[in-house]
Amino acid sequence: MRGSLKIFTWLGIPVFLHWTFGLIFLYILWHAQSVGLGTIETVWLTALFMSLFLCVLLHEYGHAIAARRYGVKTRDIVLMPIGGVARLERMPEKPFHEFVVAIAGPAVNVVIAVVLFVIIGLTVEEGSFGEMLLSAVQTRDIGPEIATESGYLMSPTMHFFIYLAFTNVVLVIFNMIPAFPMDGGRVFRALLSMWLGRPKATKIAAWLGQAIALMLVAAGLWSSDFMLSILGIFVIYAARAENDNVQTEDLLSRYKARDVMRPHFTHLRSNDWMLTAIETLRHGLERHFLVFDVNDRLVGMLEEDDIVRAMRKPDVTTEISQYAQRAEIVHVEDSLVKVSSLIRQRGFGIVGVADESGALLGVIDEAGMVYFVRMEEGK
Ligand SMILES: [Zn+2]
Repeated sequence: MRGSLKIFTWLGIPVFLHWTFGLIFLYILWHAQSVGLGTIETVWLTALFMSLFLCVLLHEYGHAIAARRYGVKTRDIVLMPIGGVARLERMPEKPFHEFVVAIAGPAVNVVIAVVLFVIIGLTVEEGSFGEMLLSAVQTRDIGPEIATESGYLMSPTMHFFIYLAFTNVVLVIFNMIPAFPMDGGRVFRALLSMWLGRPKATKIAAWLGQAIALMLVAAGLWSSDFMLSILGIFVIYAARAENDNVQTEDLLSRYKARDVMRPHFTHLRSNDWMLTAIETLRHGLERHFLVFDVNDRLVGMLEEDDIVRAMRKPDVTTEISQYAQRAEIVHVEDSLVKVSSLIRQRGFGIVGVADESGALLGVIDEAGMVYFVRMEEGK
């Protein structure tokens, strides 16, 4: 991810720190300055933040490990001040699988909280447990020993672990807010999908997610907790983007390559000069081309970028074959989802469409795809 620093790889998944993570340290320093914290208290606070992010990281690994069970790889995990993101290659399609993957993250924090509370419970004197929890959460002081109402002294270490346990509880509650695409929203979408199907479920979940996110933005502004507002805005955009993706994919799944392919297209010759390609690009509407040899056999493709490269050099007398790349061919009955993933995700400007015998029937290019989706969505 851009602007991120790789810190390590664990279980085959690289972990990145986003540059904005540095703001956390600035925030700690600023906070320490403004309330006059000593060195020990500042170290205490820094350690707390770092442990908290370790819990966030384990939460993301929860998602990643659950996804791996269903054959979904995780590209990387990125830590940002507003939390972590495990970037899965895709979401599992089966609602139950998505449910498991979504809930696996918060489940990790439940386990951490339970383990911490058990350790704390075993360590403190009998009878003081509840009182300690209460004063640990109520006090604004950090670092030094804190006395509870009936005089128990709580060590900074104890205070630290109580605080960390509580933060994990807060993490669970916060993540389970049904604001799609946050974890709770994904759980909600997965449950709805079992009943309504994925496209409709996503529409509802995204709508609810945006409504809740808008409230988060408002609550953040109201309480001057701007992190909350930023998170809200992030959720609004993410919900929209993911809903758009799902609706488009649903639309595409109902059509085949044959429905979009263009049977008439320009054939470039591999032994022609690049000048021919430049002129064709300049005076026509096509941006990407298939390249054929003298026997009219398909030998590659030439994208707009390749032609522009030749234009800049200027490399007009070089043969087209020098610039051509390997062409991608789909079957005429292939789903448009496959064609779209080649064009949108893998970045092919144009793909050829052929039948069983390998005969080329037409092409589908970027513009054709965009135009098709726009027409169908406008219906
Ligand atoms: Zn999560």
